[in-house]
Amino acid sequence: LMTLASVYQSTDCAISFELFPPKTSEGVELLCKNVERLMQFGPKYFTCTYGAGGSSQGTTLEVLQKVKQITKLPVASHLTCVGSTVKELEAYLTEAGRIGVDYIVALRGDPPKGTTQFEVTEGGLKYANELVELIRGRFGDLGIAVAGYPETHQEAVDFQTDLTNLKRKVDAGADIVITQLFYDNDDFYRFRDACEKVGIEVPIVPGILPVTNFKQAKRIASMCKAAIPQSLESAMTEADDDQDQFRVGVEHARQQTIDLVNNGVPGIHYYVLNKSEAAAELLDGLSLTSC
Ligand code: FAD
Repeated sequence: LMTLASVYQSTDCAISFELFPPKTSEGVELLCKNVERLMQFGPKYFTCTYGAGGSSQGTTLEVLQKVKQITKLPVASHLTCVGSTVKELEAYLTEAGRIGVDYIVALRGDPPKGTTQFEVTEGGLKYANELVELIRGRFGDLGIAVAGYPETHQEAVDFQTDLTNLKRKVDAGADIVITQLFYDNDDFYRFRDACEKVGIEVPIVPGILPVTNFKQAKRIASMCKAAIPQSLESAMTEADDDQDQFRVGVEHARQQTIDLVNNGVPGIHYYVLNKSEAAAELLDGLSLTSC
């Protein structure tokens, strides 16, 4: 199997898809069908998110085990520091390795619902760079991705401080950076240039979410602090119905993809929300080789 950074060494733009643990068995079945459909786009790996506060932590690994069976591809488990001691994080990492997880998306995690400040669990970790250190130290076989924020993390003092903190994660041993979703590629290019200036040399992989309706777009934008450009907002407002909004959202993500590939990104990580329709539509017929 390829190491995580080497996935991005070819001139092809390496695609990955992000899933979340479904709440029901029907949801799992649907997810499996959609994963099969997404295979036609030649993804290099799949990831599955890790729920806050014990909600879906068990099922993340179950989902990944299934996805690996279906696809025979490498899989990545997201993992956060929320609510876990170091011992518990180690137990999770051991189990992840045992079931064949290849990579970890190492995160601090968000403050639990209803709170605005991240509280360190007793015996736990405070920042994602500490989790990266833990993995590098004792679980050397696992590839590591960390999160980057083109529009700055909510709690960060400012853009530059946030970058310094991103560099800590890379210096601690992260293989790649995957970004928070964004709708304006200029935000990504600014971020990429700034990463280079502070000496971050690992692949910076843009995260793209094809929005499929305006309500969802606004909710996600406020949750993730991603600004909706005026052009997307007016196109969404002018759309007549759900189908039209779907078309607008997918077309926006398609244009973002084309532009990113033309600007030499090593790969793109798609937040597909366990679906396949939007991704299929936006990737249909695209050549993802950068020149
Ligand atoms: P950190 O890198 O620890 O940063 C948190 C804040 O602290 C930032 O403001 C940073 O500037 C600052 N900081 C960092 N290190 C230091 C330091 N050493 N000293 C001082 N300040 C510091 N959430 C989930 O719950 N589950 C998921 O599966 C999940 N997947 C995600 C995947 C991606 C690709 C992304 C972009 C986000 C994901 N998130 C997920 C959300 C993420 O957990 C939140 O954005 C969280 O608030 C920050 O996590 P982080 O790993 O970026 O934290």
